[in-house]
Amino acid sequence: MNKDQVAFGIDIGGTNTKIGLFDYSGTLLSFRTIPTPKATEPALFIEQLAQECDHILASELKLHLGDPKIVGVGAGAPMANYFTGRVDHAPNLGWKEVPLKKLFEEKFKTHAVIENDANLAAVGENKWGAGKDLSDFILITLGTGVGSGLILNGKLYRGNNALGGEGGHIIIPHEKKRLCSCGGLNHIESYLSAKGIKQTIFELIGEEWTIEKLGIEFKANNLRAVTIIDTIATELATGFVSMAVLMGPQAFIIGGGVSKLGDSFNQVVLKKFDELVHFSLKGKVKIITASLSSDKGAIYGGAAHIIDEVFS
Ligand SMILES: [Zn+2]
Repeated sequence: MNKDQVAFGIDIGGTNTKIGLFDYSGTLLSFRTIPTPKATEPALFIEQLAQECDHILASELKLHLGDPKIVGVGAGAPMANYFTGRVDHAPNLGWKEVPLKKLFEEKFKTHAVIENDANLAAVGENKWGAGKDLSDFILITLGTGVGSGLILNGKLYRGNNALGGEGGHIIIPHEKKRLCSCGGLNHIESYLSAKGIKQTIFELIGEEWTIEKLGIEFKANNLRAVTIIDTIATELATGFVSMAVLMGPQAFIIGGGVSKLGDSFNQVVLKKFDELVHFSLKGKVKIITASLSSDKGAIYGGAAHIIDEVFS
């Protein structure tokens, strides 16, 4: 890539869509967030995204960036399939059978790469974030849904037909029966998504708290908050134990809105993890927070895909 070449990284989430404009070195030049519409045709939404990106480019031109040329768009969405270029079924978006890569290439008139959103976040953290010096880690995003991306031997592992790495749908043993957005029972996502955590809070204390309030009360050592954190940390650690014995990762990196609970939450999860995990892994796996802010990993990963392709 030359200095006048730029790439867009886009992350289509269940609630918001994030757009980042990056230069050849991975510097984020411009960032904006727009709500993801609930009932809009995907093709119309991608057209709206293309218009947003035009506005961003126009405003960056005003900042004297020269005459930037878009070399590609790297976009993430839940259930986006790198190999087929499609999103066949994404309950958190209400999308079925969407040819996402084709839509991006038509509307943006440039090369596009699409990828599962959590995979992209893992790629971003691996290239520029908390996983920069790690060869084996699991990135887990706790947000509207729960996603995961696997970096094995320094490379993104997608599995057969890009169907691997869906750690949010690992079943955790539980006395409750809670339905996941996918229709399954007692998946990690049904307890650790923002919605799942809020449901747990209500079940435990009979009040409606936001994740932010939970974080504030936990910092203030509120006993009810400590009980809630203990409960959700145990649920997350139980899921991590299943993933860890299979992969032997150096670390779990937590991203997504819930990661704002921060390091004190990670420490509770780690304590539970070390209690539950196979002896061979005790004390050997770190639990850290994503460093490309809680919500920018996937847009960095989208840019990383494009930059790596253009350079290679
Ligand atoms: Zn599920």
